[in-house]
Amino acid sequence: MTDSGPGAHGGISLPPVRPTKIVCVGLNYGHHATEMNKAVPDEPLLFMKPPSALIGCGQPIELPPQSDEIHHEGELVVVLGKSLKDADETQAKAAIFGYTCGLDITARDIQRRENRYTRAKGFDTFAPVGPSITPADQFEPADHQLSCRVNGQLRQQSSLDDFIFPIPRVLSFISRVMTLYPGDLIFTGTPAGVGPIEHGDTVQVDIDGIGTLENPVIRR
Ligand code: MG
Repeated sequence: MTDSGPGAHGGISLPPVRPTKIVCVGLNYGHHATEMNKAVPDEPLLFMKPPSALIGCGQPIELPPQSDEIHHEGELVVVLGKSLKDADETQAKAAIFGYTCGLDITARDIQRRENRYTRAKGFDTFAPVGPSITPADQFEPADHQLSCRVNGQLRQQSSLDDFIFPIPRVLSFISRVMTLYPGDLIFTGTPAGVGPIEHGDTVQVDIDGIGTLENPVIRR
């Protein structure tokens, strides 16, 4: 995969969805919590990214001048197909339209300094998703693997059956806080192996059964 340049998997595309909001789960894999020296939480730890952070496959991730340490976090992303409010886990599962690949791009130095996520994870281009959505009836997460590569080099790899909080539980939990709407995105957390990206890099998130999200990295 080392020779696959930007757009090698079909060129530049728009994000496959237009959400009203992007809700993310922090620390949803035990081995990532360990590498961040953080305890496994008792309940899902939520934060949000603004929809203005969205980009599609092939579009560049822009490194902003305010940060010197920007990390990739490859993630499985849930796409909602129905509104959800105060849902139980069965209702939550039934509301999933499908799944795509995502990158929760993070300015780690800002996150560490501020101990807040809004700025660290909210820059424009910090939410690549794609390349397409696999319908929920064709994809059972536990049967699939996620990998994240930078310039073809493997950085993150995990089965999608390692979640601390399973997806229906996460969706039910979120729906008791805020109503979810069709098209809303849930970033489900990243496995161990997060690390820096630099100008000129190419980042790929691959999930078998979905495809490869690929984005070049440029300094803004
Ligand atoms: Mg994340």
